[in-house]
Amino acid sequence: MGGVTQTGEQCHVCPHRCVFTQQHPLGRCRVRGLGNPGYGMCIGLSVDPIEKKPLYNFHRGSTVLSTGPNGCNFTCLYCQNWYISQQESTAVRYYSPQDLAALAMEKSDGLAFTYTEPTVWYEYIMDTAPLVREMGGFVVMVSNGYVNEQPLRDLVSVTDAWNIDLKAWSNEFYRSICGGDLDTVLHSIKIVAESSCHLELTWLLIPGMNDSPEQINEAAKWIKNTTGENTTLHVSRYFPMYRMTIPATPVAAVYETVKLFKVHLKNVYPGNV
Ligand code: SF4
Repeated sequence: MGGVTQTGEQCHVCPHRCVFTQQHPLGRCRVRGLGNPGYGMCIGLSVDPIEKKPLYNFHRGSTVLSTGPNGCNFTCLYCQNWYISQQESTAVRYYSPQDLAALAMEKSDGLAFTYTEPTVWYEYIMDTAPLVREMGGFVVMVSNGYVNEQPLRDLVSVTDAWNIDLKAWSNEFYRSICGGDLDTVLHSIKIVAESSCHLELTWLLIPGMNDSPEQINEAAKWIKNTTGENTTLHVSRYFPMYRMTIPATPVAAVYETVKLFKVHLKNVYPGNV
């Protein structure tokens, strides 16, 4: 896979398949580009309970050092972390794979690549995750699932647990709101579910956008048939952020949607309520 270092080279990490030139040295994610400038450049580090990732059924009660790159391959109009995913001005600091792995094990039980889209940090994770595991820790990925199959399989081989966003049951939503597509995300969920990694899913509930009973029912049936009725799903409450002004999801709507998912799935939890 290798870092992109030469002009005219194409990135194969996600379906955008950006080509880097002197005029356009960075990809859409602003992390990858000529010379792989985002390698090891970490936005704020914090130690979180594992449940905050959210992962409810993986190493319960443990803590995890969390960080991520300063960019994302999605442009979600409601991004809840837009100030680090969609802005270049965020402060970053370089940590070598050895330093980050050592810090994770000094401060917590493992390392989480999260906050923005970690798969665009492909080489950095491939270098860092094995070190954490050698030291006895675990590695978590919190991802939008918008990644090509081979890099995903590589990342799965060095990590332990994934939380993947399922943002809506609509290709049109993914295209117009996020700048991606649903089919790629579903394929990624399937690959992680078939691997030895633990998998949980998150559905951020946005009023009028992804809350119709038909959409919830279709998504729930797909999850049940693909990753199993025991799959853990978090229905998370949305707050207006970035370019979306729809008011926050009423708490009652989150609980209603939990009920709808529970028609097909056993482990559904409300989040952000
Ligand atoms: S990972 Fe980034 S640079 Fe690579 S194809 Fe996707 S958006 Fe472009």
